[in-house]
Amino acid sequence: MSGPFYNRRTMATDRDDIERVRQATNIVELVEAVTTVKKQGRTFMAVCPFHQEKTPSMSLDAAQGLYHCFGCGAGGDIFKFVQETHGLRFPEALELLATRAGVTLHHDPAAAKRRGERETLTEAVQAALDFFHDRLKNSEEAGGVRSYVRGRGYDSDVVNRFKMGYAPTA
Ligand SMILES: [Zn+2]
Repeated sequence: MSGPFYNRRTMATDRDDIERVRQATNIVELVEAVTTVKKQGRTFMAVCPFHQEKTPSMSLDAAQGLYHCFGCGAGGDIFKFVQETHGLRFPEALELLATRAGVTLHHDPAAAKRRGERETLTEAVQAALDFFHDRLKNSEEAGGVRSYVRGRGYDSDVVNRFKMGYAPTA
């Protein structure tokens, strides 16, 4: 009885990993790597890398790991910052920050499997839609249905737009 249940409970979820990376990353250091950061009193101000400026107008919240530019409105967390400055998608930014922070990511195979199943299902539904749509438009036995549809005032534009279909009775 200890097999899958045991595994599921001890395996960190992606969300936990994200939080661990967040905890382990100092946003000030992160921003300093790409632009000038100045300490002003208790806050850190950075020269915004997202718009042209000489005086820093991007404030950094070291405690929350957030940035906000008063000049152009750019803002977000450490992941968004790396995505925007490196042109990465979220998983890549997470990977990069995890490596930088020395955090090992636990990929959740169950979540990946669910994603895969959802894609397969979407493809199957799409294939079915295409099939029934083609039946309605081209099959001989759907002739009566076609006249019915036309009789209801649905022209081929509507039939195509809504991918109306005909399911042959076996
Ligand atoms: Zn800005």
